Amino acid sequence: MSATQVTAPDLTEAERARVLAKSALFDPPPAQLPDGRRDLVGLSREELTAELAAIGEAPFRCKQLWHWIYHQGVTDFARMSTIAKPLQAKLAERFIVGRPTTVTAQISDDDTRKFLFRFRDGQEAETVYIPDPEEDRGAVCLSSQVGCTLSCRFCHTGTQTLVRNLGAAEIVGQFMAARDAYGEWPSPKGETPRLLSTIVLMGMGEPLYNYANVAKAMTIVMDNEGIGLSRRRVTLSTSGVVPMMDRAGAELGVNLAVSLHAVRDALRDELVPLNRKYPIADLMAACRRYPSASNARRITFEYVMLRGVNDSEVDARELVRLIAGMPAKVNLIPFNPWPGSAFQTSTRVAIERFARIVNDAGFAAPVRSPRGRDILAACGQLRTESRRKGTSPARSAGEVG
Ligand code: SAH
Ligand code: SF4
Repeated sequence: MSATQVTAPDLTEAERARVLAKSALFDPPPAQLPDGRRDLVGLSREELTAELAAIGEAPFRCKQLWHWIYHQGVTDFARMSTIAKPLQAKLAERFIVGRPTTVTAQISDDDTRKFLFRFRDGQEAETVYIPDPEEDRGAVCLSSQVGCTLSCRFCHTGTQTLVRNLGAAEIVGQFMAARDAYGEWPSPKGETPRLLSTIVLMGMGEPLYNYANVAKAMTIVMDNEGIGLSRRRVTLSTSGVVPMMDRAGAELGVNLAVSLHAVRDALRDELVPLNRKYPIADLMAACRRYPSASNARRITFEYVMLRGVNDSEVDARELVRLIAGMPAKVNLIPFNPWPGSAFQTSTRVAIERFARIVNDAGFAAPVRSPRGRDILAACGQLRTESRRKGTSPARSAGEVG
């Protein structure tokens, strides 16, 4: 089988540096407003401290502002009551606490809510809140890029060329603006129930092709003195950017979801073209290395069920063989159609047969019920009209890294 014959990828620092350098070509615009003020959202603690030092303020102000911005959710300096009025005014002259603009917020029949957010340069991305039907909790599905460089055949986002990466402020900002919509401030502490209880990086874009901004944003949301979501409540989904998986594991330790979708290289090369660069054997090896994987924190393999394409019993058995011995579970996602898509959802019978084989081998294999399909908010249905501006030729249709 070809998957096992593939030589190991170049996992050196140079390979990672190459991915990061390429990603920097799509950097977001600077967080400076036309009037010269700077957005404080999305700065690391160190950067925030430096901004404050530059206007002569002591480091303890960082802690104070962090609390107001990320714990209280306050955007108006005048409401930061532990800060004296003259300093409030000084801050307001130089800084803002920003949010993306909500262009539309649609609610599905099943209460899933899809937001279209616009950023300062006019580019747009979608964010989805998926409430748990039984309990007061839910997942916020964040976008990491406007568009995507990859072009997985079954994915609507994949038909939109990469416009640009989202900045840390824009990634955290999606969460904060969704939070605003539900009025869930101040951030609930510790295990107190919260409506926006988990983050999944499963919206538009490939998070590991925007690693620097994604990592910074996740460090902010996981900070205990602010939004305070533990790394167990954050899941990063990747189509398999192997060298960056190691980095994410070592630095962030969040849950990992891997979009597998096919168990043979020939088919995966077609469905997930990134496979031509990082084939299945390399991907599986990276999963086995992923540091936080354990029985309590299994790696999730996502598998979109495409009728007659990847849903046979043979496929299910091969899947079991690939993940044997790994702390893993398999999410079976019935294909969500979108205008112009070329696939059909597997039949109920095929999905159940597939699930049974995976289950019998000792792996949980839940069939995800589609959420928000009526408003095109389900997995793989997101897309915006944003296009890349300017004359830069830095485009990469179908390119794989
Ligand atoms: N780029 C990342 C994360 C975003 S996609 C990744 O590919 O993992 C989130 C999940 O939705 C992925 O598993 C993706 O393969 C899946 N998906 C894409 N299009 C889909 C569709 N039309 N129906 C069901 N799932 C889809
Ligand atoms: Fe990009 Fe993920 Fe869609 Fe593939 S499935 S095109 S990697 S967003």
